[in-house]
Amino acid sequence: RSKDAGGGKFTSYEPQLHVAAEERRLLEQALRKALSNDELHLNYQPVVNADTGHLTGFEALVRWTHPELGVISPAKFIPLAEDARLIAPIGEWVLRTACAEAAGWPGETRVAVNVSPEQLHNPGFVSIVASALANSGLPAHRLELEVTESVFMRDDTGAVKVLERILGLGVRLSLDDFGTGYSSLGYLSRTRFSTIKIDRSFVIGAAKGVAEPIAIIRAVVVLAQSLGMTTTAEGVETADQHRMVQDLGCTKVQGYYFSRPLPVAEARALAHREGRERAVA
Ligand code: C2E
Ligand code: MG
Ligand code: MG
Ligand code: MG
Repeated sequence: RSKDAGGGKFTSYEPQLHVAAEERRLLEQALRKALSNDELHLNYQPVVNADTGHLTGFEALVRWTHPELGVISPAKFIPLAEDARLIAPIGEWVLRTACAEAAGWPGETRVAVNVSPEQLHNPGFVSIVASALANSGLPAHRLELEVTESVFMRDDTGAVKVLERILGLGVRLSLDDFGTGYSSLGYLSRTRFSTIKIDRSFVIGAAKGVAEPIAIIRAVVVLAQSLGMTTTAEGVETADQHRMVQDLGCTKVQGYYFSRPLPVAEARALAHREGRERAVA
């Protein structure tokens, strides 16, 4: 392209855009094969009671090991999967795998699975959940589906109906990354969530003593209590952050301070160890 056409701009920007688009296209192609090539697996991050430190369950987090590029973060490939209409098969694989792996965990140990908005706009998702439970033998009340506020942003009547039918199966729902999206409190009264997950950004601010995030966590805790819901503080990395969210009344905590997401064998071992200690105590 000549300088006359773009004032020199295109020569510097176009190649970059081109590379990004090309990288995207290649990643998308590779992602299409990730399932059949067995390149996905799940890690499980412990969720613990804020006061006792007892394990209550795990959140399943998907991992993709690309044959050449190595492990790619879900923060990168889940949005890609959503755009490429691959989220339905990937999400179904995550759900079935998490239910199967969690079914053998002891006692009431729960498993939480992240669900993309797109999955909830498909009425067939209800029977996928039912069949994942039936095939694995996992009791419905030990499965929790995490949805974000973005589910309610576009025409939400379809998604709300799907969520209602999922609740009818006895599965729990939690509202993920609370406070980061378009907050409208209306859907909190319309849909029966068990847990509100308070985003890490508030945890960080609160532990620094910033007034607004402290006020927001306090208000969310009161709101949750009055609606019969619990609260989980996300991304707790330090003892100070733990102390702060515990003081503010959060029910559960999750974060690197307690544990990184674990390979399935380590999660299973932890669940059994906790189960034994609790039985003795
Ligand atoms: P999320 O659901 O909010 O999951 C929590 C993320 O925070 C995870 O990142 C977890 O590893 C990270 N995290 C946990 N504790 C800490 C901490 O103390 N400090 C910091 N800095 N980070 C912490 P991950 O595994 O990279 O997942 C990123 C996001 O990708 C998830 O955020 C979720 O939105 C999405 N995701 C992951 N797995 C799935 C899936 O199977 N399906 C869908 N639809 N989305 C998924
Ligand atoms: Mg989550
Ligand atoms: Mg979250
Ligand atoms: Mg978050």
